[in-house]
Amino acid sequence: MSTVVLDKVTKVYPGGYLAVDRLSLRAEDGEFLVLLGPSGCGKSTLLRMIAGLEEVTDGDLWLDGELANHLAPRATATSRWCSRTARYIRTARCAGNMAFPLEIAKADPALVKERVTELSKALHIDETLDRRPGTLSGGQRQRVAMGRAIVRQPKIFLMDEPLSNLDAGMRTELRMEISSLVRSLGVTTIYVTHDQVEALTLADRIAIMNRGVLQDVGTPGQIYNDPATAFVAAFLSSQQLNLLAATVRTPQNQYVLLDFGPHQLVIPWSDPRAYAISQHTGGQIIVGIRPDGLAPVQESYEGPSFYGRVRALEYHGHEWLAYVECGVPAVAVPEPPDPRQNAHGNEGGGGGLRAMVRRMFGSEPDEHAQQEQVGHNLRDGHHRRADLIVRLGVRPAWRTGDAAKIGVDVTRLMLFKLDGSRIDPPRR
Ligand code: ADP
Ligand code: MG
Repeated sequence: MSTVVLDKVTKVYPGGYLAVDRLSLRAEDGEFLVLLGPSGCGKSTLLRMIAGLEEVTDGDLWLDGELANHLAPRATATSRWCSRTARYIRTARCAGNMAFPLEIAKADPALVKERVTELSKALHIDETLDRRPGTLSGGQRQRVAMGRAIVRQPKIFLMDEPLSNLDAGMRTELRMEISSLVRSLGVTTIYVTHDQVEALTLADRIAIMNRGVLQDVGTPGQIYNDPATAFVAAFLSSQQLNLLAATVRTPQNQYVLLDFGPHQLVIPWSDPRAYAISQHTGGQIIVGIRPDGLAPVQESYEGPSFYGRVRALEYHGHEWLAYVECGVPAVAVPEPPDPRQNAHGNEGGGGGLRAMVRRMFGSEPDEHAQQEQVGHNLRDGHHRRADLIVRLGVRPAWRTGDAAKIGVDVTRLMLFKLDGSRIDPPRR
């Protein structure tokens, strides 16, 4: 049994920078959990706390059911593999590098030889065991580093962007091998990356962070198709997500209307989300639509649609994208407040950590401020009127300048409150 449980874990760096904010998460025994998020969101900080390399400021960290907040590199239980800090003993050959963790643990030499031989075969580096790391390709060096992390058979693997320094081809190849090797060993793994493709392809579950705050946890399918926040929806979209402001109306209670100004979409009461949306009647919400939830339709089409003029077409090899001027009000992705700005504002402040964290991240005032800001922009007409991005497939149905009617797959609309959280709760 190797579980990792984080209970409201918080990290405040000296100087007051809140890098991880009350994060609760659980990695199950044998699970491949991917921590995903943009650069600087606190992924490495979290991993380093689990590894015992960074002090936990507040909250509880449990490893295998034992409270493990205290600082002590957990070399025996966890194994960390990080591409940037991967260090080699340059004078030792690959076999020596892989054997090193076992040798310092004073393992039986016969066992060391057996493990290294076995592992080098699984990693396809058995031919290079007699070479020095300096003479190997980047991919081979990463395999040696992986071998070194695995050879001790730790209970938990912690991997911090192990593939980020490799070229695309090698990344894909090693990605597949990590997945099959780690799964065959059945070791609980926490894998950090900022690359959504890596996360979607590798993970049993993905935990996605932004600015130190956990946004969502779920299987790749759940967080892609049913994201908990607008940030998650946008971060996982390969093409830019359309995020639009809409006013909710329920004319004569006949149906729910999403009013985008020049355009409206009808949500019938039979739609399972209709009731949740109707709770915002008279107010504003954010509607997310991926470009592949939109498609060109005939002028005579009577289903849910937008109309506009094609401003530009963009060729992406496997598809075309159209940028269509529709006069729809676009909004930016709602995000938690930037801890950098808050940190400066709170320098020198006393009153204990909880008070400090509350001052920095007090959720209520911030949510209100955010709603107020979005609302203000909408009232004053300051929001951008951005183009709708529509996926056209391999043959564009339109040319630049064409009048365009855009069919909307209403089942694929994602509906968010102004703070970015979901209106209809995601299923988990
Ligand atoms: P990620 O791995 O997601 O890119 P990190 O966990 O490395 O993010 O960093 C999160 C934030 O904490 C960053 O803004 C970074 O500048 C800050 N940070 C990291 N280490 C320290 C430190 N030792 N002291 C102060 N701030 C730090
Ligand atoms: Mg990092």
